[in-house]
Amino acid sequence: MLFQLLVQVSKRVAGTSGRLAKIKLLADLLKQASADEIEIVIAYLSGTIRQAKVGVGWATLQKAKSHVGASASLQIRDVDETLEKISRMSGKGSAGEKQRQLSDLFSRATAEEQDFLFRLLTGELRQGALEGIMVEALAKARDLPANEVRRAMMLAGDLTAVAKGDLSSFTIQVFRPLKPMLAKTATDVEEALAELGPASFEYKLDGIRIQVHKKASEVRIYSRTLNDITAELPTVVDNSRILEMTEAILDGEAIVLSAEKRPVRFQETMKGLGGGIPFFFDILYLDGTSLLDQPYSTRAKILAEHVPESQRPRRIVTADAKQAQDFFDAAIAAGQEGLMAKGLESTYEAGRRGGAWFKVKQANTLDLVVLAAEWGHGRRHGKLSNLHLGARDPANGGFVMLGKTFKGMTDELLDWQTKRLQEIETHRDGIVVYVRPELVVEIAFNGLQDSPHYPGGLALRFARVIRYRDDKKPEDADTIETVRKLHGT
Ligand code: AMP
Repeated sequence: MLFQLLVQVSKRVAGTSGRLAKIKLLADLLKQASADEIEIVIAYLSGTIRQAKVGVGWATLQKAKSHVGASASLQIRDVDETLEKISRMSGKGSAGEKQRQLSDLFSRATAEEQDFLFRLLTGELRQGALEGIMVEALAKARDLPANEVRRAMMLAGDLTAVAKGDLSSFTIQVFRPLKPMLAKTATDVEEALAELGPASFEYKLDGIRIQVHKKASEVRIYSRTLNDITAELPTVVDNSRILEMTEAILDGEAIVLSAEKRPVRFQETMKGLGGGIPFFFDILYLDGTSLLDQPYSTRAKILAEHVPESQRPRRIVTADAKQAQDFFDAAIAAGQEGLMAKGLESTYEAGRRGGAWFKVKQANTLDLVVLAAEWGHGRRHGKLSNLHLGARDPANGGFVMLGKTFKGMTDELLDWQTKRLQEIETHRDGIVVYVRPELVVEIAFNGLQDSPHYPGGLALRFARVIRYRDDKKPEDADTIETVRKLHGT
């Protein structure tokens, strides 16, 4: 397929407001892609590339741009092959060679294609919001029901894998991890009740998400990002092995308890996780049967039949705001982070924050994306210090800046971020180093105020860093709507 075709469809999709019209444009393009191209087409249309990292900065890309646009003869395969080559280059002399390859690629592209490539490689095209539409487009192109494609995507981890394979090969199976279901933020229990109706309220434990797969005495544990972390969590393995289930997939959180049986804060948890114990709050699969499509109330009942109460977070089911608030207060008093509220009828939406799970926290915290950082002065000379923070803007696929912070950083964190941010640098302007919007950072703040300076009209007060969330992608960051709701606007 000609790269030009993809670039033009991408442009038309961006210029079309109707969902159905976008789906049609994308489906028509997907139909034209050959079996070995479809993965690349879906990736580029979503603003990503198949290679995890090509390791070229903004300046290199700027230099690679050619002044004379070529005629449209570049194939998408050419683009992918060049990026593959570049991503494999490392070591001495690789920077020059990368530059040479990129310049060659750009010189074979039209002006419009160059512009697309540039934005693709700087991460500017990245559009999480497009995922739902892509699912429907692929379903339409293949003449399949959209919900089956969606389910396969949850199990496969991403849509490109589904596009390459056969739908029936994506079934839930022990030792094949699936993306965990995610939560949205609710300001308080009342908001959660208004969204869900009667709900299950559970202690929100502050540890790390675990997905435990078990077959007889064999146990594997996967992280939120689907890495196998079995070796790091021996106590979780031991506790899971003795559960009376032949084959099961359980969803939960591993936490560390102090001698007084109080939860240890996350930062310290990271150090002592080997002794972390599991708490299970969901069951996704049992003895040959998928439970993903069962309502949460049924899954919770099955879970309770197989996992002792001492290994489940405390929970109540209620429609009463006062009762929910009392339970929230009890959770905070017990040293927990807050509550999770879950819709009783909801199915398990792997990999999605579909709106059936809400977190209600005590502290004002947001997961924001680092957009840039400023060089520090004085003691912080030579360090990237003041972070520019943005919330996700699903409507436009970008990020809205909400403020800056240089607070809450240890020396270790400063060193780490100085190095890491320069790796994803796009360009500089004075003391500001702009970066690709890839890192998610959890920020505490004391409130929000109206601001004429920032594009969203809102600014964080007394923002400070809690920790980087390397388990989250920019698509998982909080949205500007959530922030507006917190502000009551
Ligand atoms: P957050 O990471 O702040 O978006 O909050 C969601 C996370 O809370 C989940 O990914 C789990 O790791 C964690 N969590 C703790 N307790 C629960 C619970 N009872 N139900 C679901 N998730 C929980």
